[in-house]
Amino acid sequence: MLGGIEAGGTKFVLAVGPSPDRIAARHTIATRDPATTLAEASDWFAGRGALSALGIGSFGPVDLDHRSARWGFITNTPKPGWADCDIAGYFGQALGVPVGFDTDVNAAALAEHAAAGSADGGLAYLTIGTGIGGGMVLDGRPVHGIAHPEIGHIFPRRHAEDREFAGTCPRHADCLEGLASGPAILARWGCSLSELPAGHPGTAIIADYIAQTCHTLFACTAVAQIVIGGGVANAPGLVEQVALRAREYDAGYFPGGSQHRIIRPRLGNDAGITGALMLAAAARKA
Ligand code: ZN
Repeated sequence: MLGGIEAGGTKFVLAVGPSPDRIAARHTIATRDPATTLAEASDWFAGRGALSALGIGSFGPVDLDHRSARWGFITNTPKPGWADCDIAGYFGQALGVPVGFDTDVNAAALAEHAAAGSADGGLAYLTIGTGIGGGMVLDGRPVHGIAHPEIGHIFPRRHAEDREFAGTCPRHADCLEGLASGPAILARWGCSLSELPAGHPGTAIIADYIAQTCHTLFACTAVAQIVIGGGVANAPGLVEQVALRAREYDAGYFPGGSQHRIIRPRLGNDAGITGALMLAAAARKA
């Protein structure tokens, strides 16, 4: 059996299965302080029988540098209590198994890439929710440089009808996350996109920022597909508007642009946990 953890800021999704595409049991726990949360997760796995490996897709920032003494740590997160948490080391010791570790969004990108089947060409996964994050699979592998991408913190061009809002990112103010995350939407309009009245420009403004991000991703990485998940992306028609707007930005320029796809997750809410099980399968082989 493989074990997987999708470690999020509000909940941990736990699963076991004989292979990543076959989840035999799953369980969700609330994210509290690290000691309580990790012990509860570990107890659940201990009750499921022997595991051969565990994969963790985690909220970040995380240390993914295998040469670092802090590989497998959640690093300087503002989430109270979680900075410098050795999450991979904890489970490696508690469960006595090899641990695969990556960001939650790289895990989701791995799973969506596998679900896309033979249609390769690279895939990026964006989550638009309380925060904005992104992961990528190129040449079959999740993308790491010295750390992991922080796609949520690029600077989009301001929409003509959105010049006044200062932005909510504590570090960059009007980066993508500061303009298009759930809290940024709430701060401007007092409700979610789905609750805006008909004809309100909010959805078009947010779609424009995400489309600019897709344009940047196509330009910088030449991925074929961009998958958009997260709570904000559930707003009716949003992802379709993003796809239309990104095509306008492309203006027929990108090589391979006719093959570009901007879509909702094929795996729905299971992308992250399926990717965590894929990290486990890779750790078992390593
Ligand atoms: Zn930022």
